[in-house]
Amino acid sequence: MEVGVLGGGAGGMMAALFAARAGAHVALLEQNEKLGKKLFITGKGRCNLTNAAKGQDFLAGIVRNPRFLYSALHFFSNEQLCALMEGEAGVPLKVERGGRVFPASDKSSDVLKGLERLLGHSYVRVSLRTRVLALEPLAQGGFLVTTNLGQKRFDRIVLATGGLSYPSTGSDGSGFALARTLGHRIEPLLPSLAPIETVEEWPKGLSGLTLKNVTLTAKRGKKKLFSELGEMLFTHFGISGPLVLSLSAKITGEPLEDIGLQLDLKPGLTQEQLLARLDRDIAQAPKKQLQSLLHGLEPKALSPILALQAGVAEETPCYQLNDRQKQALAQAVKGLPLRPKALRPVEEAIITRGGVSVKEVDPHTMESKLVKGLYFAGEMLDVDAVTGGYNLQIAFSTGALAGHSAAGGEEALG
Ligand SMILES: Cc1cc2nc3c(=O)[nH]c(=O)nc-3n(C[C@H](O)[C@H](O)[C@H](O)COP(=O)(O)OP(=O)(O)OC[C@H]3O[C@@H](n4cnc5c(N)ncnc54)[C@H](O)[C@@H]3O)c2cc1C
Repeated sequence: MEVGVLGGGAGGMMAALFAARAGAHVALLEQNEKLGKKLFITGKGRCNLTNAAKGQDFLAGIVRNPRFLYSALHFFSNEQLCALMEGEAGVPLKVERGGRVFPASDKSSDVLKGLERLLGHSYVRVSLRTRVLALEPLAQGGFLVTTNLGQKRFDRIVLATGGLSYPSTGSDGSGFALARTLGHRIEPLLPSLAPIETVEEWPKGLSGLTLKNVTLTAKRGKKKLFSELGEMLFTHFGISGPLVLSLSAKITGEPLEDIGLQLDLKPGLTQEQLLARLDRDIAQAPKKQLQSLLHGLEPKALSPILALQAGVAEETPCYQLNDRQKQALAQAVKGLPLRPKALRPVEEAIITRGGVSVKEVDPHTMESKLVKGLYFAGEMLDVDAVTGGYNLQIAFSTGALAGHSAAGGEEALG
């Protein structure tokens, strides 16, 4: 059995490994000069390769089509990935906050090297600088793959060309065109885990300021869409950081006009506790100006914003603040309003929402329901998750299952 794996990212590498281990002759075609360019930059170069959450807790991290992934995650779970890495690939791992799993060395290159070693041991033929231009099913069975280097026939194909995010890593969407020519429906391609542009201009003035332990809440009318505690930052276009990326996964593709965001800068205090603290601070130094009072509470750069929101001049001596003004200040600190204007484009997103419709893919094998012998893996499928290692695990699990099935190993699954 000749299996061609198209795309040498996380999904493609795992597909190639599992196809080879199931007995196939495997060629892994990658357009870049090296494998796993995106894998290399994951987790800020540390590669958060999976999450240690178990069962339902793991599935809770998957935003789009979690049920489609049951079989793949069962076939090659996060625990099995860790065992493969630590055992056979010789890459010691560690678990950090929130179950995030990283290489102990904090180097994504170690994960990559480990995978490359395993591919070498399994005699996978890696063909770099090989861009797939066309994919054609043959009447007599199998596929003809046309690349910049020529044409080659394969019995089965695993398509693992990734999404549209960070195209400089190679995931430029060409695989979606290939899937389309074979009759597959591509669900709208949208940014997810993306920074957010705000209607308000003031965040731009605070560009670079990071806020830790704040709560970001998104509501449509009274309906709460998102509320989490964490870290975020202001940028030259609006807001970003872990909290904002997670929020984006919940609102991508939704109309944004009627979504309101609220930033709780002091989630550890109730409004009453905050008012009591303001009164205490004022009693200690009644002559100081409002801006100094706010500096004691929040990063300096935020005080003009909070004062403006509360409708009180920053220079106001604290003893002059009346109850209504203090209430307004406490409200600004507990719920600074922001409005999302747009998500940043998919090229700047961590992950692509949408892709090959899962309705047309068999979840037990990752085989196309439309084209026999064609399998899919990784981000090009219409599945995605929150941050924390879930997206790479999706690529690894769907890759493993697709590769194993493509090699004819599906019977072994029972
Ligand atoms: C900045 C950043 C940080 C991230 N950090 C994390 C993290 O820490 N943890 C996590 O779980 N997820 C993270 N992700 C998401 C994760 O990287 C992806 O979900 C994952 O890499 C998808 O794997 P894939 O194999 O499907 O696609 P990719 O890794 O994109 O691989 C696809 C490959 O196919 C090749 N290709 C495309 N078209 C062709 C063609 N026509 N011919 C030949 N080759 C082709 C590409 O060059 C590419 O190498 C991060 C993403 C980004 C952008």
